[in-house]
Amino acid sequence: MIQVSLTEELLALEETLKDALAQIEKMKLAAESVEEQNKILREKLSTERIRGEGFESLSQLYNEGYHICHDYFAQRREEACLFCLSFLYEEGYNAGEKKNNP
Ligand SMILES: [Zn+2]
Repeated sequence: MIQVSLTEELLALEETLKDALAQIEKMKLAAESVEEQNKILREKLSTERIRGEGFESLSQLYNEGYHICHDYFAQRREEACLFCLSFLYEEGYNAGEKKNNP
């Protein structure tokens, strides 16, 4: 059996850790790009929803426990969200305005 010295073992371990670190760096970059893409898609979806479905379904979505605000759109909502509420308030106001002044 070949004797491996402690130094050699440490060097091998160092190489393994370097590889792992490089992999982590790669995965971090991939995660960043996925998150960025996600954000763009959410923004797009939120704009389309607002245009396509209007106030009723947005307030329904909010009541079902999802964010309808720009930043967290369609994510699960654990508690009341001020952004969502101010958005609903504005949309409701605009919807009311449109009904009153066609
Ligand atoms: Zn929200």
